[in-house]
Amino acid sequence: MIDWQTRAAALYDGGFRPMFVRGQWVPSASGEVMAAHNPANGALLATVPRGSAADIDAAVAAARRAFEGPWSRSTPFERQALLLRIAERFEAEWENLCLSDTLDMGMPISRTLANSRRVLGMLRFYAGQAVSIHGATIPNSFPGEILSQTVKEPVGVVGAIIPWNAPIAGSVWKVAPAIATGCTVVLKPSEEASLTVLMIARLMQEAGLPDGVLNVVTGTGAEAGAALAAHPDVDKIVFTGSTATGQAIARAATGNLKRVSLELGGKSPVIVCRDADLEKAVPVAAMAVFANSGQICIAGSRLFVQRDIHDEFVGLVADYARKLRIGAGVDPLTEIGPIISARQAQRVAGFLDAGKAEGARLVAGGARLEGAEFAGGNFIAPTVFGDVADDMTIAREEIFGPVISALPFDTLDEVVARANATPYGLAAGVFTTHLGTAHKLARRLKAGSVWVNMYHAIDPAVPFGGVKMSGYGREGGIEHMDEYLDTKAVWINTD
Ligand code: NAD
Repeated sequence: MIDWQTRAAALYDGGFRPMFVRGQWVPSASGEVMAAHNPANGALLATVPRGSAADIDAAVAAARRAFEGPWSRSTPFERQALLLRIAERFEAEWENLCLSDTLDMGMPISRTLANSRRVLGMLRFYAGQAVSIHGATIPNSFPGEILSQTVKEPVGVVGAIIPWNAPIAGSVWKVAPAIATGCTVVLKPSEEASLTVLMIARLMQEAGLPDGVLNVVTGTGAEAGAALAAHPDVDKIVFTGSTATGQAIARAATGNLKRVSLELGGKSPVIVCRDADLEKAVPVAAMAVFANSGQICIAGSRLFVQRDIHDEFVGLVADYARKLRIGAGVDPLTEIGPIISARQAQRVAGFLDAGKAEGARLVAGGARLEGAEFAGGNFIAPTVFGDVADDMTIAREEIFGPVISALPFDTLDEVVARANATPYGLAAGVFTTHLGTAHKLARRLKAGSVWVNMYHAIDPAVPFGGVKMSGYGREGGIEHMDEYLDTKAVWINTD
């Protein structure tokens, strides 16, 4: 049995952790730092550089130099081998990697351990993709011997900006396809969760990543993030985060018309029909929101339940919520960890107040958790509101906390219209035992992913992303590679 507490004390001691530019571990140009706190108890874990525009300039220059250097002549097979070595390095260090994530952003260790397994699969999937990139020879309308073909080329320097809620998967999902395609990267982690991303860079360096292929600049969104999004020598931005920030990034990117892909927020519907297997649906519908304390873009936070089973189903979900074990993520039995920051917990508490004030029926939770075991941390009880109306704040806005809003519905046509009546379109869930209903709803729901009788399935081989204001572009699947590639047409007169 691993003693996570003892390991935690050895991993972070409050000291300074430099950032990673051109293969060197460096402070920020200004010397300024930011503090990284454990959201479960407020303890100082480490300080990291507060990078700004000057540091982004240096990192972009390093990435450009690497892109145009020997890396540009690396073969797909060399890049494949590198990704496989990185996967091995991750596997050797995976307990520390997961523990770092648990300490820095609060996700329970049981969950980070499970997630990291998926990350290893991601690295190996992109290793396979590296040697599968190819263009085509295309028949054309010209007379004579004119050959036309396409060649896939890396887009160049990629600026990657990620949120705090899944640093391991978030960074690997940006960096692995870049390595596979031959791009180089400047990665800006969230100011709320930089430590694990720095550890990832170290592991990649140890696995033989050439200098400058990955650079990590820690810092705030307003300084380092904005500088990266607007940088004239960045060819592409891949961003995961809130819709408001995605809009700011898309605007900033217009200066040099860099390509942008955006994985943004959501207000995903989960639809429970009266013919659903309720026993199986309850834990899945509950964890569709409570996993990672609701801090997950695909949280199924609008729970539509057919009216005649609404009260029964909501009662069962509330029972489930009350039994969840909440606490610090280093306890292997913890199911629900803290919210990332005091500010974010305050924001979630504001939604709890709005739900009560606007007349939703509070069935479980509904408050911050106080007391000795939660001291210094940002804990919110898993919360279920029943009989929520579509126009209430908690039914409309992304909460990014452990809050389910249950809404009764009568007919399938009605629920499709209501489920789609949101600016977002990231994900949706359906629970039914009727095959026709499953197909119909899956087709009619406007979302990048629809899960039937399950939720949360994300796989490196399957494309993931949003429609509407949940963004554009796809991560995962063969579609993902095209986000990092340009297609060049080559014409040859062979006469
Ligand atoms: P956020 O948008 O506040 O921050 C995300 C990142 O953008 C951070 O690194 C931040 O420093 C940076 N940033 C902030 N302002 C910036 C600016 N003006 N220019 C450039 N960069 C800037 O999001 P968050 O609070 O960290 O994360 C929560 C949000 O992320 C939620 O809306 C959630 O739904 C979304 N999210 C989406 C997905 C997805 O795949 N669709 C996954 C996880 C999270």
